[in-house]
Amino acid sequence: MKPIVCIVAFMRTANSLHLSVTLPTAPLCWPIAKKAKLVELEFGYRAISYEMQGLENRTFKFNETATALGRLIAPIRELTATELKAFPELEGWFVLDDLDPSKILDFINRYGQIGLADYNRRDKFNLPMTKTSRGLSVEQFCSLVGVIDTSQIQKAKIYFKKNPDDLMKRTMRIFWGTEVPMAWIEKDIRQLFRCVRILEILKKKKSQSFNLEQSPELRRLIHASDKTPFIIPFGKDPGNFRPLDSKWNLPQMHRKTLVDEFNTNVNRFLQPITRYPIHTEELVARNLQNCGIETFLIQSLLATDTQFREGFCRRPSCRRPFYKQRSTKECCSDQCATALRVKKLRGNKKVSVQKNGKKMTPVKKGKNG
Ligand SMILES: [Zn+2]
Repeated sequence: MKPIVCIVAFMRTANSLHLSVTLPTAPLCWPIAKKAKLVELEFGYRAISYEMQGLENRTFKFNETATALGRLIAPIRELTATELKAFPELEGWFVLDDLDPSKILDFINRYGQIGLADYNRRDKFNLPMTKTSRGLSVEQFCSLVGVIDTSQIQKAKIYFKKNPDDLMKRTMRIFWGTEVPMAWIEKDIRQLFRCVRILEILKKKKSQSFNLEQSPELRRLIHASDKTPFIIPFGKDPGNFRPLDSKWNLPQMHRKTLVDEFNTNVNRFLQPITRYPIHTEELVARNLQNCGIETFLIQSLLATDTQFREGFCRRPSCRRPFYKQRSTKECCSDQCATALRVKKLRGNKKVSVQKNGKKMTPVKKGKNG
């Protein structure tokens, strides 16, 4: 097997970032699409249940898929006036909104599965049954699937007492990958989108040195990592990455954390194509069934030279990042494009009313306009 060595970026400053990726000569892993359903239990546990087998979804390109992924995540925001009234002690805090489970479900059923590429996470559910061990305890289960509230753990104990076989069955399903806790899926969606945004920065700078000091690249890295309001004063950066002054900075330790986090996640997401260097046919088939959106996006971005550029939606209430197939595209979705057109039309009407009620053709603003 001849590996492709894909050097994403070389940097020569003290804060340099040298990333080298060795991909096996595996063909592109298309995301596997399996029918997905939402599972909700009374102690606050949510999961996605998948059918056992699925088929490759070759319908979408990686830029469309990345844009759809980004639409699941609302940008970090300030508290609204109503929220501040209810929680005055949170003044100065920022909010990261929860992801909407029904939107996640729609995304998965349209584009393909997510949440199965990280094998290590599922391995913790593979406990042998012995005379002394009956698998995971309720507390262990809860902590692994992200149920951490004490009252919810109490409810979980009551639930599993009422349904004694459920804990073992659920543990097995999670290990096989026919059930994925929503907490894992949410984490993967957020982290995958970060990785995609960081890869976009690195790809663009492929042959040049990359300065992690004050630079548009650092700014983009800050944006990609949801650190914007903490480092770049909110409202000062409209998201177009035009270099401003030097009021923002990212401490060295944070930079290192960001880079480490990025490496860990890329490795996690590529596990179905990188974990086993020796393959049997059965193993290859099983690994393929674990490929999802995460493997597809990361592998596509690392292995192809196709243009991949981030843009920002021009609709003021949206401002989400999206990925362009053509450079003239202004909005992240058809919905936003329509909304923006309607807004522009209304704006023009207002102008014509102001000008003495005469019907006017909108003219492009000149220097004196
Ligand atoms: Zn938009």
